[in-house]
Amino acid sequence: MKKTIIRTGLETLYFSGMHHLLRPVVGGVGVILTLHHVRPARPDAFQPNRLLEVTPKFLDRLLRRLKRARIDVISLDEMHRRMVSGDFKRRFVCITFDDGYKDIKEFAYPLFKKYELPLALYIPTSFPDRLGELWWLALEAVIARNSRIGMLIDGKEQFFDCGTVAEKRELYDAVYGYLRSMKTEDEVRKTVRDLCACYHVDIPALCRDLCMDWAEIAELAADPLVTIGAHTVNHMMLKKVPNDDTVRAEIEMSRAVLEAALGKRPEHLSYPVGDPTSAGPREFRIAAELGFKTAVTTRPGVLFKAHAEHLMALPRVSVNGEFQKHRYVKVLMSGAATAMWNGFRRVNAA
Ligand SMILES: [Zn+2]
Repeated sequence: MKKTIIRTGLETLYFSGMHHLLRPVVGGVGVILTLHHVRPARPDAFQPNRLLEVTPKFLDRLLRRLKRARIDVISLDEMHRRMVSGDFKRRFVCITFDDGYKDIKEFAYPLFKKYELPLALYIPTSFPDRLGELWWLALEAVIARNSRIGMLIDGKEQFFDCGTVAEKRELYDAVYGYLRSMKTEDEVRKTVRDLCACYHVDIPALCRDLCMDWAEIAELAADPLVTIGAHTVNHMMLKKVPNDDTVRAEIEMSRAVLEAALGKRPEHLSYPVGDPTSAGPREFRIAAELGFKTAVTTRPGVLFKAHAEHLMALPRVSVNGEFQKHRYVKVLMSGAATAMWNGFRRVNAA
């Protein structure tokens, strides 16, 4: 439902040309883009996490356009410098990837080399440690491989048919929504672990198959074009973690592990999941106390000068499979679409 509204909004903005009119008001000083997977499109009809990927061809065209445009593609350090020193002579873009998937090294990194453009990778350290739980993909695997599943909901065992693609999509959305509505991260993990145990989905195998190992991350980290940022240890929705000390440990420990593995202390942070239900004022405060230069959310938005006062709660624009059309990217980067989502509030850091 929400996706349809956003997409319609984008079409309207694009075709009415309103984003050109809005540009001086909402265009901001720059933008941070979020990506996850970059890999060739797969034919499977059931791909509920498709919104987390773009194709190499799409990224190639995006980078080529950015390289030609009057806009600077810069590192997170340079973005931080411009924000704190008020250097807004030219608009800028930072390109960031969350989670450290193998396909980034295989398909995205070569394109950044080709165009000599910087990129940032936010790594949850449990992923290269092979202990990560990619629960949203584990749920996808359970539903993809079965035609009927049972799960405990509010203490009662309930069964759902998921034999057809339409049923699988519907069930995925429902269970995903149910998991995201849970009060604690522990409940989410336990529910998915139980499902996976019941339906023989090997959670650690997803991590091994999809995520870069330490040697692969080190190879990228050695390139001056690459910034490695922290993304906690266990990729938890931090706001759902009751204990402040655990939140602090998740962030601090991930930075220490990355520093030990790669020889450089990360100075930038990305909150896992990163929406207002996953990162809020407590997380922003802790990130500031730990001395990060910047920390990014997934709240949609472009950067304004005022974000210099909110460097622990920076918005990003998601470049994803649902909006994999260049005219969408153009509108998103103009700031018009995200300004609509934000109700024209320039800074959303509460
Ligand atoms: Zn993530």
